[in-house]
Order: sequence, then C-alpha cells, then structure tokens
Amino acid sequence: MTAQKQDTSRPFDVRRSPIQGHGAFATQVIPAGVRLIEYAGERLTTAQSDARYPDVEGERHHTYLFAIDDDVVIDASVGGNDARWINHSCDPNCDAVIEDGRIWIETIRDVSPGEELAYDYAYVLEERHTPAAKRKFPCHCGAATCRSTILAKKR
Ligand SMILES: [Zn+2]
Repeated sequence: MTAQKQDTSRPFDVRRSPIQGHGAFATQVIPAGVRLIEYAGERLTTAQSDARYPDVEGERHHTYLFAIDDDVVIDASVGGNDARWINHSCDPNCDAVIEDGRIWIETIRDVSPGEELAYDYAYVLEERHTPAAKRKFPCHCGAATCRSTILAKKR
C-alpha cells in the first residue's frame, strides 16, 4: 500500500441519519482505501457478551457489539468512539477490516462530501437465518440491492 497523506482532522462528522439514529457523514472527498477510525470499545469474551446482552425473544436486536472472531467481542457502548455510529448498508462505501485483533473502518470506494459512511455488518447468527430472525435484524438502508436485513447471507 502506498503511503497515505492523512489529514489530521478527521474527514467525517456525526449527525442524525436517515438510515437509523446517528450516522457518520463525509465532510470532504475521501478516496478509497483510507483507514477512517478504529472500532473501539471494551473487549469481551463471547460468554461475557451473551451475559450482558441476553437474547430476548421477539425483540428487535440493537447493540454496539462487534465480533472479532468466535471468542472476542468489542462492546462499543463501553469506551467506544464515533465508529459506533457508522450504520450498516447493503451497498456500502466502507468495510470493517480486522487486523491483529483490532477492527478498523476503511473506505472501499471514493466518497463524496455529505455521503453517509456505512459498511455491511453481515451479522452471522448461530441459529438459522429464518424470516423471523431477519425481521429481528431489519435493514432500511435504502440501497437498490437492500436485502432487508443486516444479517449476512448464509449458504
Ligand atoms: Zn439494506
């Protein structure tokens, strides 16, 4: 990778989002391949995270959890930064890159000022991704290719 000249001021702002709650919006042109921010938070084991956020039947799922792998989960509601406001999109302009046990949000295409930053959460449940499970993890990203859920496609 070529050395990227990084602006010291970050290239995005957090404000209300048409997708959901708050969102992160580019304040300048951001080229593809820019590492924007770390997805920071408390590191939990899967068991700790399950104990903290028990699954409630029929309830819409909403947390700031990000699973690094089968063992480690980042909980951005504790010690998190603005990365937790970055929404899901089924047609994203960013990706979450896991490197040495840390998560970074990077652009995967050029982003225009005012565009909302988003990545594909691609959640994977232990249970089957049934229609009911998908309804628990709805997506309203508005992309033409929206799959109506933030769950990943399972084989
Ligand atoms: Zn969508």
